[in-house]
Amino acid sequence: MNYNKKTVKDIDVKGKKVLLRCDFNVPMAKDGSGVITDDKRIRAALPTIQYLLAEGAAVIACSHMGKPQPSFDKWVQKQTEKGKDPATLTEAKWQKSLAELTLAPVAVRLSELLGQEVALAADVAGPDAQAKAAALQPGQIMLLENTRFEKGETKNDPKLAKAMADMAEIYVSDAFGAVHRAHASTAGVAEYLPAVSGFLIQKELDFIGGALANPKRPLVAILGGSKVSSKIGVINNLLEIADTIIIGGGMAYTFSAAKGGKIGNSLFEADWQDYANEMVEKAAAKGVKLLLPIDTVCGDKFAPDANTLTVEAGNIPDGWEGLDIGPKTIELYCNAVKDAGTVIWNGPMGVFEFAAFAAGTEAVAEALSKTDAITIIGGGDSAAAVQQLGYADKMTHISTGGGASLEFMEGKELPGVACLLDA
Ligand code: AMP
Repeated sequence: MNYNKKTVKDIDVKGKKVLLRCDFNVPMAKDGSGVITDDKRIRAALPTIQYLLAEGAAVIACSHMGKPQPSFDKWVQKQTEKGKDPATLTEAKWQKSLAELTLAPVAVRLSELLGQEVALAADVAGPDAQAKAAALQPGQIMLLENTRFEKGETKNDPKLAKAMADMAEIYVSDAFGAVHRAHASTAGVAEYLPAVSGFLIQKELDFIGGALANPKRPLVAILGGSKVSSKIGVINNLLEIADTIIIGGGMAYTFSAAKGGKIGNSLFEADWQDYANEMVEKAAAKGVKLLLPIDTVCGDKFAPDANTLTVEAGNIPDGWEGLDIGPKTIELYCNAVKDAGTVIWNGPMGVFEFAAFAAGTEAVAEALSKTDAITIIGGGDSAAAVQQLGYADKMTHISTGGGASLEFMEGKELPGVACLLDA
């Protein structure tokens, strides 16, 4: 995939209507009060918005929020699958579930942050959106309603994409968290408008794309998290690129079991043992250093107050489960990143949510904060861990997209990036 894409700086936006795809999928209070519990994603979009407004564009911002079911029947089906009694599922309840996913709170917060009015359209590309867009003046910004209120959004329906595109003259994508999806607002609209990236996507492409295409070596990839099966694509791709691959987290135990180790009650994916062995062989054949844990911190239950026991890898007693890498592994892994040119990290080393099993993840975060290497943190849990531990400002780049950064590291084509004009 070509990561070298045109940006807002490569196109004249003065006096133009710009459709700007943002990622305003912010966490909301569970009580339905409409309170945004973390506005990081809204603040992250400000540089591109402020640039466009200052350059004299009229900005029509849009985003999805959550997973609304735009049809009543589909909603009933999904709720029934979740175990709800169909007799209790009324049209009013469905409407309420949609109302909770309005972008109204986002419009209010965005308006506060920008210090100017952000009008919210009542629809995505319907009469109200069209009227508001037509009246929008240079330097003004409006927000469309949740793009997923339209059935055509996730189906990448060309009719919806065209209706959205017809309101604007230029498409700017800055929703990195959604570029792995070919939806009407993330890819479809680019069929009808000149399409460029905003600053957020540009940064992701520069750092992650740069690390994958032309890394400062040695390139060390640290892969953790719960399951081997969810990281296969990343392991496969990084085996072709990295000099060293470090494995931690729950997935390490499938590697251990595959070698004949005793793993007690640790996370284990029987179907992936052969794959784990193949990866070890493939790494050896390619001259890629593959590091696996040499010791492990176990718990007697999966709980914050579990009793702990540190043992050699492959020697976990019955009744215990591996929940973090051990001190010898920490030393091994921290040494491996010391002289790296680039480090890519995706997935925690243990159950960092429990203090008793956070040491491995903490030590790796600290080691990354001290190295001179370019440090790139994949979105999701590793990003959350780095932030929670206070090392965020010590990293070169923390990705804003969980699924998107994973697919990027898998070497997959990202539809929301592929559709942008090449630089
Ligand atoms: P993932 O979404 O695959 O990146 O996995 C992240 C989750 O993996 C975190 O919530 C961790 O608590 C969990 N995790 C990491 N190590 C382990 C382990 N040894 N056993 C169980 N869960 C783990």
